[in-house]
Amino acid sequence: MDTIDRLKILSSQNDFEPAEDHRCPKIDPSKNYSAFVHNAIMPNGKKITLLKTLLTSACERDCHYCPFRAGRNFRRATLKPDEMAHIFISLHRAGIVEGLFLSSGLIGGGIKTQDRLLETSHILRNKLGFKGYLHLKIMPGAEFAQVEQAMQLADRVSLNLEAPNTKRLKILAPHKVFVDELIQPLKWVAEICATKPAQNGWNRRWPSVATQFVVGGAGENDSELLATTEYLYRELGLKRAYYSPFRPVEDTPLENQPATMLQRENRLYQASYLIRDYGFTMEELPFDENGNLHQETDPKLSWAKIFLTENPIEINEASKGELLHVPGIGPKGVAALVIERRKNRMKSVEDLRRIGINPSRAAPFIMIDGRRPSQQLSLL
Ligand code: SF4
Repeated sequence: MDTIDRLKILSSQNDFEPAEDHRCPKIDPSKNYSAFVHNAIMPNGKKITLLKTLLTSACERDCHYCPFRAGRNFRRATLKPDEMAHIFISLHRAGIVEGLFLSSGLIGGGIKTQDRLLETSHILRNKLGFKGYLHLKIMPGAEFAQVEQAMQLADRVSLNLEAPNTKRLKILAPHKVFVDELIQPLKWVAEICATKPAQNGWNRRWPSVATQFVVGGAGENDSELLATTEYLYRELGLKRAYYSPFRPVEDTPLENQPATMLQRENRLYQASYLIRDYGFTMEELPFDENGNLHQETDPKLSWAKIFLTENPIEINEASKGELLHVPGIGPKGVAALVIERRKNRMKSVEDLRRIGINPSRAAPFIMIDGRRPSQQLSLL
C-alpha cells in the first residue's frame, strides 16, 4: 500500500474527535481527497481546512468504546513520522489542506508514541519549514519534557480525558490511569504556561489546550462532567472542553449500549460556556435530582426563571457578574452596557437595542430605571 492509501485509511477512520465537517470547496472530487480533509474552526474563530489523521490506527490498548481498540477486526494502517510529514507537506503545498490535526493509537506505550508524534512535528517545522496550524495530541502517560516540546511546536495541544473521573474511566478505558496518565500532563501544560516565558512557545506564545469527554458511555451524569470541566477551566487554564456523544461501535464491549441524545451534548456545551464565560459556578447550575441538566430548557434560562422572575435585576445598578446571569445578555452586551451607563442612565428597551442587546429574552428578568420592560415591549 502506498502512503496515500494508508493516509486514506487512517483519516477515513478518524471519528475520534468532534469536528465540523463539510465538503471543502478546494477539493478535487476526482482525487477523492475528501477522505481526509476537514473544515474546522480554529481557536481564533477562523475556518481552515485540516488534515485530521492518526499516525497509526493499530492501538495496543483496549478501551471499551473505541473503534481502534486492540483485537477489533478492521483494516489498520500506520505511517512513519517522515512519511506523515512529507505527505502532509505535499498536500499543504498543493493547497489541499492548510493545517494538521495529528493524533495516534498507542504502540509501545504513551512515551514512545509521543516521541513519534514529536518527530513528525519536528520534521514539519524544522526540516520542511511548515509554519501553519498544528494541533498535536498529548498521549496518556507522556513525560514532562515531551509535553514541553509539544508546546514548543504546536498551536494547540489536547489530551482526551474521555471520562470525568477515575470511577467512570474504568468503564470506558480500564487500562488508563485518570490522574497519573491524563490529568498530570494537563497540569504540566498549566505549569509551563505559568512559569516559563511564552516566547518559548510556537509563534512566541503557548498553545491553547483542549480536552474531550465521551458523553454517556460510562453512566456518568452531567454534574460529574461539568465538575471536572469547571476544574479544568478554573485551575488548569483549559481553553475548550469538547463533549462527544457516545455512539456504540460494533465489536466493542459497549456495542449494545444506547447512543447518547444530541440534546444532552448541546446542554453540556451551554452549561460549560456558562462556567467558562459567564461566571456561573457548579452550585448555580440547575441540575435535577439525578445530577443532570434539564433537557427542555437552556440552563441559563432555567436558572433565571428560578432566581430572577420574582427578583429582577436593575440594569443600571447590577454588577457585571449579575448582568452575565441574565438570559439574552452576553459578555459583549455587558461590556457595552457598562460603558454606556457610565454616560447615560438606561431608561428604555430602546436604549438596550441601541447598544446591541435584544431585550426580548432579558425582559422578564430585568428592571430598566425602576420599571419592568414587559409593558414597553408589548407596545413595540
Ligand atoms: S488508547 Fe484507547 S481510546 Fe486511544 S486509540 Fe487506543 S483504544 Fe482508542
